[in-house]
Amino acid sequence: MTQKPTIAVIGAGLGGAAAGALLQQAGYDTKVYEQAPGFTRLGAGIHMGPNVMKVMRRIGIEDSLNAMGSHPDEWFSRDGRTGDYQSRIPLGEFAHAQYGASYITVHRGDLHELMVSALDPRQLHFNKHLVDVDERDDKVVMTFADGTTEEADIVIGADGVNSRIREKLLGTEAPTYSGWVAHRAIISAEKLKAYDLDFEACVKWWSEDRHMMVYFVTGDEKEYYYVTGVPEPEWNHGTSFVESSRDEMRAAFDGYHPTVQALIDCTETVTKWPLLERNPLPLWHENRLVLLGDACHPMKPHMAQGAAMAIEDAAMLVRCLEEVGAHQYQEAFELYRHNRFERASRVQQVSHDNTWLREDEDPAWVFGYDVYEVPLKQPATSTEEHVA
Ligand code: FAD
Repeated sequence: MTQKPTIAVIGAGLGGAAAGALLQQAGYDTKVYEQAPGFTRLGAGIHMGPNVMKVMRRIGIEDSLNAMGSHPDEWFSRDGRTGDYQSRIPLGEFAHAQYGASYITVHRGDLHELMVSALDPRQLHFNKHLVDVDERDDKVVMTFADGTTEEADIVIGADGVNSRIREKLLGTEAPTYSGWVAHRAIISAEKLKAYDLDFEACVKWWSEDRHMMVYFVTGDEKEYYYVTGVPEPEWNHGTSFVESSRDEMRAAFDGYHPTVQALIDCTETVTKWPLLERNPLPLWHENRLVLLGDACHPMKPHMAQGAAMAIEDAAMLVRCLEEVGAHQYQEAFELYRHNRFERASRVQQVSHDNTWLREDEDPAWVFGYDVYEVPLKQPATSTEEHVA
């Protein structure tokens, strides 16, 4: 191979879009294959901390995101019943000065659309559901559900929690249902004006076994959003989400603060999602295949860092390909894994425990991380490197 290797990214979710955009900007011939026919504005919000806004800067969409998102001054944790404040984590100007970029909350659909717009449209292929990968000596052949095949030198599995590429590397194994669901609803802020209550820009209401995280998803603060974590012993629906209802929400948050009751009263539609996890994987790459994001470390969303980890992965993977030289891709993949495994696994664990910012704590290890500046740790040469 004299030219840079050709790269296929499977999945144009938040991690795949980041990887595709960064690779294309670095001059790689990169095609992105997405199973969906297109993307709709799914009713959900997302946090983008300074750690991930630094990657958005590199992609060239930081200013647009800053204009699009809400900029909370603080993250509050409050007792779900009494309303007492359990933590106040400074964000806003403080986060910008301290961690080097903004902390925003934004509509997930708006963010995703912006990220996808950073891809070369000629290299983004919808309706391409990957069903098989065949690794040959000199390339990978991908087969899609529509019967077509494509080739690439390297294939990146950014295909989410049920990744086909993960399955190729490690065999078929369904993710674990965590025993928790998340309800998600977007509420018109106009409706909230009827209440003499303070609807804070970023607040998490907690009780022993459940919570409700609430924030604005647009800069004009017209759309308010909540996402919950509620125990539910089994998930037998066989779909990625189902419709929920105000009655179900009232039952789940019975006795919660009047502000939470007002949010439930103003809910028009609410969906319910199973929260899936996997234990840290023993293998992130092999030969010409490599994983990122939920394909290799799906987690409960309770730290609001799942997509952030996928996007950081994408940035680190491209950094390692550039550092080592893309033709040494196996070395680059190992350098990437070595520099991501510990952080992603720690975030998985804290998300699982659901302790993040519940009490006052210093979030610098998450928000202050700069994937472009962090010194690269070199893998040892021994086999002990692959942590089980
Ligand atoms: P995905 O976003 O799942 O993207 C995978 C893509 O691959 C999809 O587009 C899919 O259609 C495609 N695909 C799958 N299989 C194939 C195939 N065989 N062929 C072709 N394409 C395929 N994270 C945060 O950082 N902040 C938050 O505030 C936050 N809130 C969350 C709230 C909830 C309720 C949930 C469930 C998650 C939340 N997350 C949050 C986590 C975040 O959504 C995920 O971690 C993130 O989407 C992972 O990105 P990804 O690109 O790895 O995977």
